Amino acid sequence: MSQTKILDGRKVAKELEAEIGQVVENLTKQGITPGLTVILVGDNPASEIYVSYKEKACKRVGINSNLIKLPAEISEEELLAEVERLNQDDSVDGILVQLPLPEHIDEEKVINTIRADKDVDGFHPINIGKLMINGSGLHSCTPRGIMEVLHRYEIEVEGKNAVIIGRSNIVGKPMAQMLLQENATVTICHSRTKDLKEHTLKADILVAAVGRAEVVTADMVKEGAVVIDVGINRTENGLLGDVEFEGVQKKAAAITPVPGGVGPMTIATLLKNTLKACQERRG
Ligand code: NAD
Repeated sequence: MSQTKILDGRKVAKELEAEIGQVVENLTKQGITPGLTVILVGDNPASEIYVSYKEKACKRVGINSNLIKLPAEISEEELLAEVERLNQDDSVDGILVQLPLPEHIDEEKVINTIRADKDVDGFHPINIGKLMINGSGLHSCTPRGIMEVLHRYEIEVEGKNAVIIGRSNIVGKPMAQMLLQENATVTICHSRTKDLKEHTLKADILVAAVGRAEVVTADMVKEGAVVIDVGINRTENGLLGDVEFEGVQKKAAAITPVPGGVGPMTIATLLKNTLKACQERRG
């Protein structure tokens, strides 16, 4: 069999960042600097790490980043008022409320309060609706980043059997919609799927977004499939994806590693969304 292609998310993210940086520089010369504001509630260590990655990425491409740290005890009303304030602030192009939020705050209510045209996470019902109808709007960063990897490696999607394991609102469902938009035949598997392997063995493109270390094993993968591993699982054996990489790479035509696959693309897509939000809202 020919050699497996490693889909290098770090490399693609770097290319994308360079392109974004160029556009941001041109906009800045015209007096418009795109701005992303991140709200971080409480002190969840994982969230703090993710937010710091996002801030650093903004700096690399010249996007203004602003972090608003709020105490875990903040009331839902106060948080919603803060989001409203950012909705009205013309210098803020993207608003991202880092999830999860403390239990006393209704996440859905917060997401629904963010102006859809500033919703750079792509979680607002208007953006999800637009994705369903015609692919417009701001899209969830992880699946959009995966599509970018498929495009840049010139992996054909049209007519392919795409199987997604996972049906979350932020990865599985929008992923299915994006692949459908590009004319794949899509199957979504989930925790109640009977005989998962029966489905995965038909996949030309297999996306694993389960959140369980190495659940996708070589016997579940068709020879020559393209395998995308979304999983980030911190285990005693270190950071592992949802795919058992060593075994699966022997059968796959192409595969994303963990780390260095989907993760960097998620961040690069957030930058792209912020730029898009700026361009569309400020003309
Ligand atoms: P989630 O927990 O919301 O959803 C997991 C999905 O997997 C569910 O829909 C569930 O039905 C399905 N599932 C669970 N067990 C299953 C099983 N045994 N067989 C088949 N399906 C099963 O998770 P999520 O937010 O979609 O994230 C999935 C993974 O991707 C996590 O590891 C998360 O950390 C990672 N993630 C990575 C990035 C990134 O940038 N790389 C971004 C988002 C999420």
